[in-house]
Amino acid sequence: MNSVADNLETVQSRVTAALASTPNRPNSAQILAVSKRQPADAIRTLATLGLRDFGENYLQEALPKQQQLQDLGLVWHFIGHIQTNKTRLIASHFDWVQSVDRLKIAQRLNDQRPAELAALNVCLQVNISDEDSKAGAAPAAVEQLALAITALPRLKLRGLMAIPRATTDYTEQVQAFGRLQALFERLNGKGLQLDTLSMGMSHDLEAALAAGATMLRIGQALFGPRTA
Ligand SMILES: *Cc1c(COP(=O)(O)O)cnc(C)c1O
Repeated sequence: MNSVADNLETVQSRVTAALASTPNRPNSAQILAVSKRQPADAIRTLATLGLRDFGENYLQEALPKQQQLQDLGLVWHFIGHIQTNKTRLIASHFDWVQSVDRLKIAQRLNDQRPAELAALNVCLQVNISDEDSKAGAAPAAVEQLALAITALPRLKLRGLMAIPRATTDYTEQVQAFGRLQALFERLNGKGLQLDTLSMGMSHDLEAALAAGATMLRIGQALFGPRTA
């Protein structure tokens, strides 16, 4: 099995190559290391290699790992489905929440964000492939939701996030990510100042970069297979 150091190097060269072949794109994209079902010591190794941002899907799993890694001062992103009764702990233990998809959740996170912490960074999760089974706001509902969130003082709306339907077809991948990018541009055209387009995972980061991703969420390509 490859070491996480080798994996990071491979991911970084994939990113560099993809950006080089994409005209009119920025020359960097942020990597969010998705550490769900990965041990704390692997996170620590990636942190020593320079990664700061880590994403977790399950609160009960994230809290003990955050505790163990407290000395590193990492930036934690919540990227999983949000149950109403979990918002208080999410609001106090994370720097970002990327999976906000309804106003009720945003309001609770706003009300429960501890006063001594900076405003919580938020991305709206969008259901870009229109699948009944997937979380995310409908594209048609996103503008209204985004405007409502900008009125919440303890949240800072940073951008959009999506997980499109899985496909190995590159053209389809680019089209799906392109729909999120178009929505992002449209919102910024209306005066929102969004800087984060969070899209692309281990298997489709090239297509996401081609469509303008600013943040990639990479799990298994960095850590190797997830433990059960
Ligand atoms: C698990 C997960 C990822 C990472 O997926 P990989 O295929 O391991 O890169 C990214 N985003 C979200 C929301 C996830 O749940």
